Amino acid sequence: MSKRILLGNEAIAFGALSSGVAVAAGYPGTPSSEIIETIMKFGDKVYAEWSSNEKVAFETAYGAAMMGARALATMKHVGVNVAADALMSSSYTGVDGSLVLVSADDPSMWSSQNEQDNRYYGMMALIPVIEPYDTQSAYDLIISAFELSSEVKHPVIFRSSTRIGHVRSQVEMKEIKSPVMGRLSKNPSKYALVPENARRNRKEQLRRWEMIQKKVENLNFLEGDGKKLIIASGIAYAYVKEAVENSRVKILKLSTPFPIPKDLTLKSLEDSEEVLIVEELEPIVEMQVKDLMVSEGIALKVHGKDLVDRTGELTFEKVNYAVGKFLGKEVSEVENTLIDVVPRPPALCPGCPHRSSFIDLKKGLALAGIKDTFFSGDIGCYSLGVLPPFNEQDSLIEMGSSLGVANGVYRSSGVIPVAIIGDSTFFHAGLPGLANAVYNNTPMIVLVLDNRSTAMTGQQPSPSKYIDIANVARGMGIEYVREFDPFDYNSSTRVIKETAEWVKKNMKPAVLIAKRACALDALDKIEGKLPIAEVDMNKCTGCTICYDYFTCPAIIPLSNKKATIDVSQCIGCGACVPICPFKAISIKGDKPKGWDEAWLS
Ligand code: SF4
Ligand code: SF4
Repeated sequence: MSKRILLGNEAIAFGALSSGVAVAAGYPGTPSSEIIETIMKFGDKVYAEWSSNEKVAFETAYGAAMMGARALATMKHVGVNVAADALMSSSYTGVDGSLVLVSADDPSMWSSQNEQDNRYYGMMALIPVIEPYDTQSAYDLIISAFELSSEVKHPVIFRSSTRIGHVRSQVEMKEIKSPVMGRLSKNPSKYALVPENARRNRKEQLRRWEMIQKKVENLNFLEGDGKKLIIASGIAYAYVKEAVENSRVKILKLSTPFPIPKDLTLKSLEDSEEVLIVEELEPIVEMQVKDLMVSEGIALKVHGKDLVDRTGELTFEKVNYAVGKFLGKEVSEVENTLIDVVPRPPALCPGCPHRSSFIDLKKGLALAGIKDTFFSGDIGCYSLGVLPPFNEQDSLIEMGSSLGVANGVYRSSGVIPVAIIGDSTFFHAGLPGLANAVYNNTPMIVLVLDNRSTAMTGQQPSPSKYIDIANVARGMGIEYVREFDPFDYNSSTRVIKETAEWVKKNMKPAVLIAKRACALDALDKIEGKLPIAEVDMNKCTGCTICYDYFTCPAIIPLSNKKATIDVSQCIGCGACVPICPFKAISIKGDKPKGWDEAWLS
């Protein structure tokens, strides 16, 4: 045993390593990314990869578990939607080794498009869901998840959340175990889901489910005494514990919100006069408890979502309010406890090539005589293009949505749209949309922002480092493919203009690829002193273009409207130089070692 201060996601990773995980695959996404990163760092004998999307990550882990290995797949909650097809099948076949899926949910949508409660996936797929309530339990319960999966030969969902994954505290840990590998074995009657096998598997699945319902009893605990019962799941338990103080109350601490432990729940309902169920987001536990009470003929008043907020993260204040009401204490309404910080709109980094691409695109389209179009956006750093002054993301739905949405926009309105997608997202879920645009012949300008990085989630690698997007587009039947360097303003705007004209004339899809590395990646590779931008005050007219229109955070307006450079932010990328119509900006200093390779290779 050893003690270490760990982030919740690191605790999950170390728990997996202590369980003998052999294969771990994930797709980066806040709040899940640190799990695979930690396994890559500390699991020298573990095969760990960033997959091209969540479905592939899940299938990789699933395949390893078919061979008898211990396998882990990680993703954020919306990623489970992408993996859902394989997830449903895994519940039918079961596995030979063990298979744990970490779904890192994001209540309050701190960095997501929704706050879906993925415990529902457990219900739909008949897969047990294990939920930690703090960092130590994240470590302990992922071990329980592997053990349960291995004993029952069934997948397990480990549902974490932003608050669990990103809190740091001391964790008591066991040794890292040698990976439990698999070996080649074939069992098509189990794993080939043709109808005959699937029907037989369905019966097997229900048999395993009965075993699971019994086994989860040991993962849940009843504490305290009294006539009032609080049932708390996941992080709610930590808040309830604090809120009840010294009150006489029973608490059923649930680590498995689905299925709930039937016997223990019935035991905890005995002699209870009233029940409060505290859980984050959806009433998953509440539904099951009410269902159990109806089938057992138990008539008790049950509180749940009538007192506990159904939207956003739980907070101590929210739980304290619900517990106070339940226990008959004086409580005041929950106030917004968020600290007032100075509003600070998110901004693209100094030197970010996306800023240049957005500026180039605006000018290029204008040169082609396109005044108004639909910018079908996608998920990545470039989502910030939704903000002024760019306003170049009119929709932003889910990974890889830009091409499909653009197709719908054209089919319904006749407007030639621009589908904007990042390189990582292109390989994640953009390819089917591109194939559709080719075979249904949709006139659209597809702009791939290729910075060779999954930058938004922490600069994980992207398939575009190894696979040439232009070749892929040509191979899929795109006739017109052009590449440009977004920092080369004049040439880029010309290429965009020509592309837009080609699409208008030929009424076919065209692919444009803006190629320049993520500024943070480039800086990591460059050695030596960086050059810096400088404004010539004699030439600067105070036209405001560089700070109001180009908006590099390193360019600051002076009181006389002229521009100056914040040397602490400028990285000398030179993107602003061609933007100034008065040639007032220049770069001082030589390019350091590795400059061109870092930005362009
Ligand atoms: S774009 Fe050029 S002229 Fe205009 S404010 Fe910036 S530096 Fe001055
Ligand atoms: S060179 Fe210009 S665009 Fe690049 S970081 Fe400095 S001010 Fe910003």
